[in-house]
Amino acid sequence: MKKNNFKIIYDHWLFKLPFFKSYGGMTVNKNLVIFKRRKKKVEKYLPYHESIHVNQMKKMGKFGSVKFWFKYTGYYIWNLLKMRNHWHAYYAIPYEKEAYDKTRKKYGFR
Ligand SMILES: [Zn+2]
Repeated sequence: MKKNNFKIIYDHWLFKLPFFKSYGGMTVNKNLVIFKRRKKKVEKYLPYHESIHVNQMKKMGKFGSVKFWFKYTGYYIWNLLKMRNHWHAYYAIPYEKEAYDKTRKKYGFR
């Protein structure tokens, strides 16, 4: 796997907002990953999980981050209409499936 060169911000304010506070991290774009907690408190698997999203964005080429979020949101809304459950809809997003599958293989959970 290629080495990732993205900036990381810990203890980010975004996770204080209602929708975001149930998440531990987020890949904003291929150059920026943010985490809810301070560096020492970030869950061990999470940087790897987010690095998979960075790679997914990179694979999408030019404007990959924009395409990623557009499709990600589309999948989520579609799933939500079908499943009527936020977490089921979230875990069924193909990008999350790939990230959780790979993280599970590497860390044995999540
Ligand atoms: Zn994810």
